[in-house]
Amino acid sequence: MEFARLCDYADNIEQTNPGSICLVKTDRNLEPGKNLFKYFYVCFDALKKGWLEGCRKIIGFDGCFLKGACKVDLELGDGAGLTIMSDMQKASFEVKLKEELAALGKLGKGICESLLKYNKEYWCRAFFLEHSKCDIVENNMCETFNSWILAPRHKSIITMLEDIRHKVVRRHVDMIQFAETWITDISHMARVILEENKELSRKCKVLSFGTDRFEVDEYEYRYIVNLRKRTCTCRSWQLRGIPCAHAICEIYHQEEEP
Ligand SMILES: [Zn+2]
Repeated sequence: MEFARLCDYADNIEQTNPGSICLVKTDRNLEPGKNLFKYFYVCFDALKKGWLEGCRKIIGFDGCFLKGACKVDLELGDGAGLTIMSDMQKASFEVKLKEELAALGKLGKGICESLLKYNKEYWCRAFFLEHSKCDIVENNMCETFNSWILAPRHKSIITMLEDIRHKVVRRHVDMIQFAETWITDISHMARVILEENKELSRKCKVLSFGTDRFEVDEYEYRYIVNLRKRTCTCRSWQLRGIPCAHAICEIYHQEEEP
């Protein structure tokens, strides 16, 4: 029985990964005379250090929640500055919010009322805070992770944990090798978005100019760009940390390179 060996497995992880924390929780009260498995928790020291030193404070969930040791190990405190992606999803920009809600309302009674019970800051991009540089409005990444580990989940407990650990380690090695192919400090993904925005900026026009605030037109819409503060009223620059097409239009107008 692999469950009987879980504590040995946890000890082994802690010995071979100094600084890591591994907990096996059992419960003697669920069934008289039995000590039943409740949960297994592991926080690898290397992943914890990576999170604390280099990650944006964004955590995604799918069918689970944060409690206890995890909050302490990741130094989450009261959650200030943290962005949570959950399975509550789908949002839009403010100008389209009413349209989207009207369309949603046609799908069935009470849908809009149920959605609006939650603060808009939690599910609508137009109201997202800007510190995390995350404009993701769904948790597809977490759903993808769950399907990524689907095969191991059908195996016995230690084999499953080892399979998941191997997959995570392999992914980290792949990401390190990928990062070594970068030719600048800008990540590949950010560069792709920047190039797309450069292309879109051709359709924009700078209307007026001052010392740091500029009006930029994109078709019938008008945006205010502030290069010094790195903001645009479309909010894409603030949310993603990558200059939007309007900002790029103005950067080119100043004869600089985005
Ligand atoms: Zn913009």
